[in-house]
Amino acid sequence: MKLLVFGQTGQVARELIRRAPVGVTVLALGRDRADLSDPSSCALAIDRTDADAVINAAAWTAVDSAETAFAEALGVNGDAPTVMAQAAADRRLPFLHISTDYVFDGTGNQPFLPDHPTAPLGAYGRSKLAGEIGVRAAGGKHLILRTSWVVSAHGTNFVKTMLRLGREREALNVVADQIGGPTPAAAIADALFAAARAMVDGAGGGTHHFSGAPDTSWAGFAREIMARAGLACVVNDIPSSAYPTPAKRPLNSRLDCTSLEVAYGIARPDWRSGLDDILRELA
Ligand code: NDP
Repeated sequence: MKLLVFGQTGQVARELIRRAPVGVTVLALGRDRADLSDPSSCALAIDRTDADAVINAAAWTAVDSAETAFAEALGVNGDAPTVMAQAAADRRLPFLHISTDYVFDGTGNQPFLPDHPTAPLGAYGRSKLAGEIGVRAAGGKHLILRTSWVVSAHGTNFVKTMLRLGREREALNVVADQIGGPTPAAAIADALFAAARAMVDGAGGGTHHFSGAPDTSWAGFAREIMARAGLACVVNDIPSSAYPTPAKRPLNSRLDCTSLEVAYGIARPDWRSGLDDILRELA
């Protein structure tokens, strides 16, 4: 199986490149070859590909700066996936796209089902929701995989920030009222490989959720990072109201991942073992 991947440097894209199973070839396109701000360059790459399926692992992921650069974020997260999905549909290629828990408003304390009404709180969520709508409207076979709290040994993410601060400080205040599932990028890559294989072999697509288990708070996650990294830094719980950010974050980011397991046999990964892998790699 050959996969055309948009994104080369991101957390998920890197794991797709290095975790390709035997018999899977990944052709990953960076910004220099396919700029999502210019969706026609992405469509052209799909028109010309000899791949069996297309994965979009690129996105505008700067949540706070999307508030003041919505048009640009919408171009990358809304227009580009829409055009990619149309090009993939024209070629009858399965199109796999990653979305986010931020399409929900975060109310309640139950895990969100894939068909729960969306109501993003911020510009990033709105731009990602536009991408979902465009991918569905393209009418081809597609998978929209909503995930949350992505972490890896690469790029900027919560694990790396906590490790840096945990070495510098004796105590840290971390938000304890946002609950969700930390998700190792490696597990997302493996899930995408399995789903792509199934879709190429005839399985259908749809909108599904995939996040690490068990659900926790950012503060709980931070404590686990400190403990597993052997850092003595104490993590104090604070409410979101004590840590204002330009973009409002959902309090409830729990995702019900049952449908993905039913459709493709892909279970929620335990983020604690993924965290150990990340710590080993960083060491
Ligand atoms: P990263 O922020 O690690 O990487 C983003 C990637 O997108 C980079 O490769 C970047 O390339 C690329 N990119 C951004 N803009 C463009 C552009 N205009 N043209 C081409 N490439 C571009 O992302 P993740 O791997 O963390 O995220 C993967 C997916 O998961 C995304 O769809 C994201 O929305 C979703 N997601 C992420 C979460 C998270 O916590 N990170 C949570 C929930 C969902 P470059 O290096 O050139 O900038």
